[in-house]
Amino acid sequence: MNEVGNGTIKCPYCPHHCELSENSTGYCRARTNLNGQSVSINYGKVTSIALDPIEKKPLAHFYPGSKILSVGSFGCNLRCSFCQNYEISQCQENGHYDDPAMGGSSEKNMRRQQRIPIYDVSPERLIEISEEEKENGNIGVAFTYNEPLVSWEFVRDVSQKLHENGQKTVLVSNGCFTEDVIQEILPFIDAMNIDLKAFSEVFYKKCGGDLETVKHFIKRAAECCHVEVTTLLIPGENDSQTEIDELSSWLSEIRPDIPLHLTRFFPMYRMMDRGPTDIDTMRKLGTIALNHLKHVHLGNI
Ligand code: SF4
Repeated sequence: MNEVGNGTIKCPYCPHHCELSENSTGYCRARTNLNGQSVSINYGKVTSIALDPIEKKPLAHFYPGSKILSVGSFGCNLRCSFCQNYEISQCQENGHYDDPAMGGSSEKNMRRQQRIPIYDVSPERLIEISEEEKENGNIGVAFTYNEPLVSWEFVRDVSQKLHENGQKTVLVSNGCFTEDVIQEILPFIDAMNIDLKAFSEVFYKKCGGDLETVKHFIKRAAECCHVEVTTLLIPGENDSQTEIDELSSWLSEIRPDIPLHLTRFFPMYRMMDRGPTDIDTMRKLGTIALNHLKHVHLGNI
């Protein structure tokens, strides 16, 4: 661990490289400095659990028609203004989160009242639940909803045990993590859906992310497991023909059979100033992506 003096360390796991003093919390709200190590405070803390169709992850080419036990915690290392799951991604250890939808003159007070329940679920209990759900078509566990890799230790420990138990593991991630995390989790993941939010650093900087880190993550993941990629098409932000042409061309250089999901934006969280993505625009962009890739899926339409 990278010490910067006075007991403060630099967290190595994502491009923020937060400087964590003893017991302080990083940008992701999910890691702290405990005895000179960056450790997750949301290990085994569950905010959401559901048996979802695998297509909802979205994964279109991995055990189609099956179900997967989907589990989420709290915290994220990005701050996307259009987040679809902000109640948990931007939630703190005590369950509190900012809810701009509350609005009004007493907005600040109302915000403080927003709180979600958080449950303790050990890796062993999660594997038991997953096993119990086999009779309902379950094939394993998907780590999803918030950003799972802010607690990569939980993902690794559960996934390793699931493999020993003959079950499948799926990760839905923003892919904005360093090689340290990649090496810990890759041996235990069967399939991933990775967000490629845009193909410009300007866009990624607005979200608090880093395009080159995500590109490296996608390349590494594609070496070891089944990978599908998702781009949410936001009007006026990342929906130009040039950007989608460049994005899909780059993806095809890794492998042209990596499925790309182009999904429809709806106004959400702090991005309420525009309407949903135009469906004709989505179809045009889908055709452009198909010039490079074998599988392009339009989602949320
Ligand atoms: S994983 Fe969290 S604590 Fe570590 S650098 Fe990223 S945002 Fe900061």
